[in-house]
Amino acid sequence: MLGFLKDRHRKRLRARPFPNEWLRAIKRSVAFFTRLSATDQTELLGHIQVFLADKGFEGCAGLEITDDIRVTIAAQACLLLLHRKTDYFPRLITILVYPSTYLAEERRPVTAEIWEEGKQSRLGETGRTMGSMVLAWDAVKSGAADASDGQNIVLHEFAHQLDYENFAADGTPALATRQDQLAWREVMRTEFASLRAAEETGIPTLLDTYGATNAAEFFEVSVEAFFERAVMLRAQHPRLYAEFQNYFRQDPVEFSAERTRQKL
Ligand SMILES: [Zn+2]
Repeated sequence: MLGFLKDRHRKRLRARPFPNEWLRAIKRSVAFFTRLSATDQTELLGHIQVFLADKGFEGCAGLEITDDIRVTIAAQACLLLLHRKTDYFPRLITILVYPSTYLAEERRPVTAEIWEEGKQSRLGETGRTMGSMVLAWDAVKSGAADASDGQNIVLHEFAHQLDYENFAADGTPALATRQDQLAWREVMRTEFASLRAAEETGIPTLLDTYGATNAAEFFEVSVEAFFERAVMLRAQHPRLYAEFQNYFRQDPVEFSAERTRQKL
């Protein structure tokens, strides 16, 4: 579809009245939603309409796709799109949903020549050229129910999709200017190195040490922390927080569930 026709179509979708039963489902299962400002809630609901019109869903291992499943995934994914010009995860076509953790075949290098084959249980995955994403519904639900534990499989996998927008899986999303890219890379390099060092020495970290795997996973894990541990991330990693604030055009401290907990 031509750009301006696509924009017009999406504008219409965003303006459509939001179904009541979908809104009830979101309020029931997506914990951060009611903490957003009224303006952000409206913007999010608009994005959800476009997202659901654009993406296909397929149930796997006997799971039947319901509106509950679709809106719970869409609401979390679209949090990553607020306040920015977006093309709605353009590389993603279909979302495959398993009832719970699923087993995937995996080949792991043991040495340079020897590979180990086996099954690994997974909560979700996506790839730059896959056009699809796999999610485990029970992990989606528990991620949506707790907005401040720093674990969110939907934010994680959709952050991978943002990472691909600059045509590489390198932990750098599409940034507006060369200057933004340089600043981003410098901060991420330093922060990644310190997570790796902490993992090696066993020092407890706010960021999940899975982020020490590589630069891409470091970005995804940091996205989970940015939205779910905003207060702590800002205090402990101010430069990382500032880069993310600049890219996402959001300050999740404003709707963080952590803040209330600290007040108690
Ligand atoms: Zn990942």
